[in-house]
Amino acid sequence: MHCPFCRHDGSRVVDSRTAEDGASIRRRRECTRCGRRFTTLETASLSVRKRSGAVDPFSRAKVIGGVRRACQGRPVSDDDLALLAYKVEETVRGNGQAIVDSHEVGLAILGPLRELDEVAYLRFASVYSSFNSLEDFEAEITQLRAGHASRGA
Ligand SMILES: [Zn+2]
Repeated sequence: MHCPFCRHDGSRVVDSRTAEDGASIRRRRECTRCGRRFTTLETASLSVRKRSGAVDPFSRAKVIGGVRRACQGRPVSDDDLALLAYKVEETVRGNGQAIVDSHEVGLAILGPLRELDEVAYLRFASVYSSFNSLEDFEAEITQLRAGHASRGA
């Protein structure tokens, strides 16, 4: 069980409880190196239904693989990607379903990727949301700009 923040391999359990579905245990862990806390959901399987109908186990490595292409040449580290995949898994698992559509995984990627790197986000969104035209890009960039303005950046 690696810490999603610093990837340290040691953590202690600070809280355990049975998840709502009763089939899994949610543990709150504290990293013994950086001291940050994270949640793990254990024993519950999570599967992803692809557009073809095939069902695969959820894999953070696949999330990272999908995002890594969009991050080429961008200042995004492996640690950043590992943390992003962790957030995606948290979001997807938060729905409480054992099987999710690959579409939901894609949606769960968009938010944290936008926070991480806007260029990578635009690249990923352009493929994922199949932007068809320059107008689609412009609309997305306008939204990003509006976000900056509202944050005062
Ligand atoms: Zn840590």
